[in-house]
Formats: sequence, C-alpha cells, structure tokens
Amino acid sequence: MTKTNASLFERACLSIPGGVNSPVRAFKSVGGTPRFVARSFGPHFWDAEGTQYIDYIGSWGPAILGHAHPEVVKAVQEAAVHGMSYGAPTEAEVIMAEALIARIPSIEQVRLVSSGTEATMSAIRLARGATGRPKIIKFEGCYHGHADSLLVKAGSGLLTFGNPTSAGVPPEFVAHTIVLDFNDIAGVEAAFKQYGPEIACIIVEPMAGNMNLVKPVPGFLECLRDQCTQHGALLIFDEVMTGFRVGPQGVQGLSGVTPDLTTLAKVIGGGMPIGAFGGRKDIMQNLAPVGAVYQAGTLSGNPVAVAAGLKTLELLAAPGFYERLGATTTALMQGMVERAQAHHIAFNADSEGGMFGMYFSEKIPTCLADVSSSNINMFNRFFHLMLDQGVYLAPSAYEAGFVSAMHDDQIIQTTLDAADHAFKQLSN
Ligand SMILES: *Cc1c(COP(=O)(O)O)cnc(C)c1O
Repeated sequence: MTKTNASLFERACLSIPGGVNSPVRAFKSVGGTPRFVARSFGPHFWDAEGTQYIDYIGSWGPAILGHAHPEVVKAVQEAAVHGMSYGAPTEAEVIMAEALIARIPSIEQVRLVSSGTEATMSAIRLARGATGRPKIIKFEGCYHGHADSLLVKAGSGLLTFGNPTSAGVPPEFVAHTIVLDFNDIAGVEAAFKQYGPEIACIIVEPMAGNMNLVKPVPGFLECLRDQCTQHGALLIFDEVMTGFRVGPQGVQGLSGVTPDLTTLAKVIGGGMPIGAFGGRKDIMQNLAPVGAVYQAGTLSGNPVAVAAGLKTLELLAAPGFYERLGATTTALMQGMVERAQAHHIAFNADSEGGMFGMYFSEKIPTCLADVSSSNINMFNRFFHLMLDQGVYLAPSAYEAGFVSAMHDDQIIQTTLDAADHAFKQLSN
C-alpha cells in the first residue's frame, strides 16, 4: 500500500485522538488533510507522498537555523553517544545556564525544564510563592501553554475573572486568574486599583505570537512594569516564542522593559524538548532545594537537548545573524503586501526578526478582537492555495509565521510568486 497523507491520517485517527499529538496540527480551522512529514532540510520539508514544501512554521519557532542544521545534528549525535539522560547534574547544563544569563541581562539565575508549558507553569508558582499572593493577570489571546490556571478567557463584564477555555478545568482553578485585553493600559491600571495587594504577577507575551502576531502599543509594556513595581507584583515575560526569535535578547532587548522573570523554550532547544525560566536571583532563590517553592523534572537539563540548544545559541551569535533574518522577513512581508494590493485584496502584514503576521484586514491588529474580525475565511482559502503550490503556512489565521536563516532570496521569490497566484485567485 502506498502511504498517502490521507491514509496516514486515517490510520493515525484510530490510535491517536484526532490523529495528532498537538491540536493545531490537525488542520481543523483550515480544513483538509494534514501533511505527514517524512523528513526536512533547511527551509523545506517533504511529506509522506514526497511533496516538497517551503516551511513557514519551523516547528512553531525552534527551527530558526533551518531544519537539520548539520552542526546541530552533529552536536546531538556526539551527546547521544554518551547517554540520553542521567538524572544527575552535568557541566553542559551549567554552560547552558551561563549562556542564557550572558545573553539576557534580566536573567541572573535560570532553571531548565522540558517544555514551554512547564516553564510558564513553574514561573507562576514561583511568583505566587515569592510574593505570597494568589492572583495573576493574563491577556486575552496570549498563550502560555496548557496549565490549568492559564486556560482561561475573559468572562462577561469589564473586569472579571475568567472562564475556563477547556473542559476539565474547574472554574475554581481559574478563580485567581484575571483576564484583560492585550494592549489595554486602562484595564491593567483598573485591575491593580481593585486587586493590587492580591496580585502575584502579570504573565504576558510581550509581543503576542499566539493570536497571530500582535505587537504591544507604545507604553503598554512600560505600564505593566510600572504597575507591577508600584504594587509589589512580579512581571513575567513569556518569551517562549519571541526569545532568540525577534532578536538576540527577545522583546526585552527591543523594548528596554525589564521583566522580573522570563520564560524560554522553542529556539533555545534547537528542536529538542527544552524550556527554561529565570530572572532575578532573589526570586529564583525561592526554588527548592534552597527555597520553599517545589519544582522538578526527570528529564530537566537533558544532555542531548542541552547539546542542541547550546550549539543553536552559539550559531545565533554569528555577527549580523538577526539583521539578515529580519531583512529576509521584512522583504517577504513587503512583497506579500504589494502583491495583495495589486489584486485589491484587503491585507496587511507585520514582522519582527524572524517572526511575521499576515492579516486579511484593513488594519494591523492590536488585540484578539481585531484578529477575530479579520477575514478568516479568506485566510483559509489563501492557506490552501499556497499549500497547493508547495508553501506551508501556519494552518490557522490565529498563528504567526516563522522564517529561518535558510530562507534565501530564491525561496522568498518562489513564495511571492505563489502568493501572487493565490491573491489573484482570491480576487476573482
Ligand atoms: C509555545 C508556547 C508555549 C508553550 O510551550 P510548549 O513547549 O508547547 O509547552 C508557552 N508560551 C508561549 C508564548 C508559546 O509560544
């Protein structure tokens, strides 16, 4: 039997819920059959049928050097020979911690975990433990992994506690989570006015990448910093997506706003499972075994993952890396906007470093409601028109896109030619 994406998906659905190990892979919002990846290299992957795609998700961010970078692969192979996991400390973990501390000034101490979800979940427990306060603030449309207290959306009313967005999360578990609109400065001030002494932390994607790309408006991050400082709460930047993606020091480097704690994952693992949370030493000292906040992990600081991460961080430090990456992404987005305009499609785009957003709307969104009011249906058609031409975009209008260092001028031109054709079809 020849393997097709359709036959694999059908088979997968028998043994795996929905056929996938993470929901967005299932193409539910765009429709159609998910592509089953057989292999990848540089800016491309190939599906089970041998079809080649230019990849603009890059494993949802980690593949910033392109897929299967030979030096990263070599580092992984060399580490694996010595064993996959020890459950005892290694020098490489210390080097990794030192590398993160050297690169991100707000991080004085750091702990490694195995995913972004673990990093944010642990950072929030730490913030609550360090402040002795129960409440947290998060923003609508920001994603911080799938810990119970973070699977929450705004309830009705101006300033309310959220409702769970997932079955299996009792309302009591999100009772301490205040949900506000991204970029809503007045909302943040009002929340602190009402609940200030009870608020342990704000957790925010300082540049949102999980409701498509949505940048902070001027003053928003500064307001978060001011309010937290004034009220004794901690500011957590969830840079799981933006860390080493939008620039060498994440959004904190671009904005000059310094968080108390930072969460990282994705790029820092170079494609292997790694997460990290770190920040002010006085706060980090609350973690077990020195402090009273418990946090642990059998595979934390895994030697193979650390090897991939360290090599990736080393390659990212090449002079001009982010300038080149940013120029490529900007050229791609400018080209997209020009082609959409030529076919009179309401379309906008934005980018930062190697991360981009495309919006079928008249304006660049500043919050989740803006993204929701864009033409989702047209995006879904665009997605399939591009896919049919061998360009793999994120299969949802609510996701950002990612460019790697291996996306060269030729790849960008091929993508823009495909987009021209797709926009033309949409204009008919
Ligand atoms: C991906 C992501 C997470 C979750 O990371 P996982 O490794 O998928 O658990 C958390 N926060 C942000 C901002 C993310 O983009």
